[in-house]
Amino acid sequence: MFKKSYNRAVLRIRVETVTPLLIKAGDAGLDPTAADLTCVRTRHATQGATVYIPGSSLKGVIRSAAEASVRGQTFAAAGASVAGACNPLEHQTSCGQFAGRRSSMTATEIHQKQCLACRLFGSLALKGRASVRDLFPWVENGDGTTGPSGTNHRAANQVEMRHGVAIDRVVGSVRHGPFEQELVPAGISFWGEIALENYQVWQLGLLTQGLDEITDGFAQLGSSKSRGLGVARVEVQSILHEQPGRAGSRPVGVGALAPAEEKNAYALCREGELPAVIGEPRGLSIRFNVREPAMVQAWLDAGRRALGSLS
Ligand SMILES: [Zn+2]
Repeated sequence: MFKKSYNRAVLRIRVETVTPLLIKAGDAGLDPTAADLTCVRTRHATQGATVYIPGSSLKGVIRSAAEASVRGQTFAAAGASVAGACNPLEHQTSCGQFAGRRSSMTATEIHQKQCLACRLFGSLALKGRASVRDLFPWVENGDGTTGPSGTNHRAANQVEMRHGVAIDRVVGSVRHGPFEQELVPAGISFWGEIALENYQVWQLGLLTQGLDEITDGFAQLGSSKSRGLGVARVEVQSILHEQPGRAGSRPVGVGALAPAEEKNAYALCREGELPAVIGEPRGLSIRFNVREPAMVQAWLDAGRRALGSLS
C-alpha cells in the first residue's frame, strides 16, 4: 500500500534468554503458520559458526502474542470499524481471503477490510508494515561491522545437550526417541532489528504489546514450551525514525503525512502522537534518533496509548 514512502523506523532490540531456548534441527520442517521460534545455526562471514534466531521465527511469536491481545475486539478506523485480529487459518473469514479478489477489488478496498494484526504483520492479501531481521549473539554496528562479541557469543554456542522422547498420547509408550536436544543456555543476549514502514503510531503500539507479552512470560519462544523452555525478555534499545523534511520538525505517524483522501481510501485509523525529539536533517529527510532509555519508553508508551484510544 501507499505508492510513496512517508515514514519509517528501525527498532534495535535485545532478546535475553531467561530459560534455555531449544535449538531445532534443520530438518524440522518449515511451517509458515507455526508460532514456534526455532533457533538455528549459520556460518557468519567473520564470526564463524553460530546459533542465531531467524527474524521470521521471532516475527511469528510476536504476531501471535499481539493477536492474542486484540482478538475479539473491534477498533475504530476511518468510516468503519475493524477487527483486532482475524484467524489466518479460517480461509473463509480471514483477511487473506481477499487475495483471490485482486481483480475485482482495488488495493485500498482490500486494505479497508484488513484487521489490525494483518495491517501490521501482513496477510496473503496485503504486505505487512513490520519486518523482523535475524538476531545474532553479538552487536551489529550500523556500518555492517560487528562489535565485541566476546563471552556472550561464546556462551551462546556452548549449547546444553538434553535427551528427550516423544510419547504417544494414545498408548502412552515412546513413539520416537530418545533423541538429543540442543539448548541455548539462559542469560544469553541476541541483538537484531525490527523495521516499520509507512506506519501509524498504533502500529508501534501493537508491536510493543507483542514484545510485552514475551517479556511478561505470556508468550514463549521455541518448541517444548510446556517444559518451561523459551522464556525471554525483549528490550527495545533504540528507535530511529525518518520522515520527509517537509513534514516538519515533529516525528509523526503516516496518518499525519498522507493526504486526507488517501487516508480515507485506505480507512486508516486515527493517528496518535509521538513524543517530541530533536531531529537531524539528512538530505530531503529528517531523522530522529531515540536512544535515551526513558525516551524509548516514552515512544513505546505513545504507541500503546494510540492503540488503546482506538478501542
Ligand atoms: Zn487479519
